[in-house]
Amino acid sequence: SNFKELGLSQEILATLAANGFEKPTPIQMQSIPLVLKGHDLIGLAQTGTGKTAAFGLPMIEKLLADGGRADPRNIRALVLAPTRELVNQIATNLKLFVRKTPLKIGVVVGGVSINRQTEQLARGVDILVATPGRLLDLVARKAVTLTQGRYLVLDEADQMLDLGFIHDLRKISKLVPKTRQTLLFSATMPKQIAELAHEYLTDPVKVEV
Ligand code: AMP
Repeated sequence: SNFKELGLSQEILATLAANGFEKPTPIQMQSIPLVLKGHDLIGLAQTGTGKTAAFGLPMIEKLLADGGRADPRNIRALVLAPTRELVNQIATNLKLFVRKTPLKIGVVVGGVSINRQTEQLARGVDILVATPGRLLDLVARKAVTLTQGRYLVLDEADQMLDLGFIHDLRKISKLVPKTRQTLLFSATMPKQIAELAHEYLTDPVKVEV
């Protein structure tokens, strides 16, 4: 199988080819068509399996199809991950994918100056990659609103749980409109993650690699 058969557009296919993405990984093969169709998704997969492209490529494709442009302080897609390192890694990948598009990727993590993040959000961000705590700080300061969010990705959900982010995740899930598409990725599926998925995803399809 190749990326073309998964239903991605020429624009994205060209970027993939230029960056050495020749064949989709198993999680990409399973997830991309489902996300393009609009399903909520639970993905059981470890880091290094190509998860970022599995949710990122179809999400980018859909954002491009939705049209419009980044609205100051109002993001269209939110990706939550547990650590600064993971957030930066995800953002680096997504930035590569959107290089030939008008989409803007934003990064929000704790432990660094909040002012630059506020400025970045004021300039307009389509896809925001964030750690939960700092994101809620920025929401409280009205530096960002989630009320136009159409896509929510919870990456490494089990690790976010281990780091004590469960309450933050619940708060954030309630701030993004219910009509959104939600994608949850986790290496394991403890009871609390299953409950979170049950509560915040709609008829999710499960994929496992
Ligand atoms: P991830 O699991 O999303 O963090 O991806 C791990 C690494 O594999 C990243 O550096 C990606 O750029 C790379 N990668 C993901 N999918 C593919 C693919 N289909 N072909 C080549 N490299 C890939």
